[in-house]
Amino acid sequence: MKISIIGTGYVGLVTGVCLSEVGHHVTCLDINPEKVDMLSKGISPIYEPGLGDLMVKNMEAGRLSFTTSHILGLKEADVVYIAVGTPQGSDGAANLSYVYQAARDIGRNITRDVVVVTKSTVPLGTNHKVKQLITANLEGNHCVQVVSNPEFLREGSAVYDAFYGDRIVIGADCPEAAAVIEEINKPFGIPVLKTSISSAEMIKYASNAFLATKISFINEIANLSEKVGADVAEVAKGMGQDARIGSQFLKAGIGYGGSCFPKDTSALVRISEELNHDFHLLRSVMEINENQKTVLVEKAVERLGSLEGKRIALLGLAFKPETDDMREAASIAVAEKLMELGAEIIAYDPVAAENAQRILPEGVLFAAQIEEAVKDADVVFILTDWKEIVEKALILSSLFMKNPIIFDGRNCYTEKEVKKYNVEYVSVGRMPVI
Ligand code: NAD
Repeated sequence: MKISIIGTGYVGLVTGVCLSEVGHHVTCLDINPEKVDMLSKGISPIYEPGLGDLMVKNMEAGRLSFTTSHILGLKEADVVYIAVGTPQGSDGAANLSYVYQAARDIGRNITRDVVVVTKSTVPLGTNHKVKQLITANLEGNHCVQVVSNPEFLREGSAVYDAFYGDRIVIGADCPEAAAVIEEINKPFGIPVLKTSISSAEMIKYASNAFLATKISFINEIANLSEKVGADVAEVAKGMGQDARIGSQFLKAGIGYGGSCFPKDTSALVRISEELNHDFHLLRSVMEINENQKTVLVEKAVERLGSLEGKRIALLGLAFKPETDDMREAASIAVAEKLMELGAEIIAYDPVAAENAQRILPEGVLFAAQIEEAVKDADVVFILTDWKEIVEKALILSSLFMKNPIIFDGRNCYTEKEVKKYNVEYVSVGRMPVI
């Protein structure tokens, strides 16, 4: 069975590499020639632990190849995965133009019966439209079945998640097509949940919306904890020990970002509006998150007064550790706000700096080393809890700063740890350490 994957972003590339690792023959297709050029040379265009080595291994084994040609990429395919982006459109809904273009490309280029698998996160009803578009563009009399197979990988541990995910959801109206996708995934040994196409589409949005809700909930508890003198880390621990609640996604901080939660919550609110349903809860989750992104700046203003001319080191720029993805990272909102207030920013990220340079406001300076960022800074902000940053921020601040003060948006340290250093420390949902 020959598999083609349309889109070689975080999802498409990881899917292609991992499917080839378990023995399938995979061709990955992308319209971006620079990406395909890099990939063909064995260089991963994205930072994802373990991905590069696995990619090269399977290219060398002759199971994995890359192309920009729709003809070459699709003509021999028995199964085609759609893994193109579905970014947020200006109206808040998912922009489906890439998915629809991929569907047209499939219709025009396949030469046999195929099962088309939608990995991209798409609103309810999209898979039916995908099937219509493919069928309308078919050049031969081929049978096309469409399966919804939403992706649950986490950037930063995407390869691990492909092999050890909690479940594989296969949404199909045709049992034979579902069986084909189940068979392809058998080597991963992950439990499979078979559903209707609509349920599969909903599972993905509902899962992301629920996780975003957990984060905004604990952030509201954090804001309240500060007012009553409670410690949100202790509160979250106590809540998380209740098996009904669970401890994951209960870490207070400066909110969620990334390529999924912001756009998927927004898309679900738009889907609801189109169905004349007011998803009040989710709208609040989004609003809380927007406000949460700048709480550290507010704390800094409260503590230091004007930030005009202050040199502020931003440690960590990616939306989370172990990724170079800057999409909707909290660092963007923080940097914009600080620039507005006249601060001078020196930013550091061990991996995402190159992407950040394209996204952060003009005038932000970049440090090649964490030491360079902290040296001569008036204030340190921790925005992403990369291991290197957690290990070094306290000690470097105490060594290099005149009046060491850290505003920590990821609650990296306990009071006990901070007290070993001569550093003033302000975090989220806990009392400052002075
Ligand atoms: P991405 O932006 O990193 O990659 C998309 C790729 O598709 C790009 O390389 C682009 O050039 C390519 N592309 C666009 N149109 C194409 C076409 N017609 N033919 C060939 N290639 C085309 O996106 P991503 O982060 O991998 O996300 C893909 C989908 O998966 C989205 O719907 C997203 O919501 C979903 N998803 C993402 C994650 C994640 O963590 N990134 C997790 C789960 C689900």
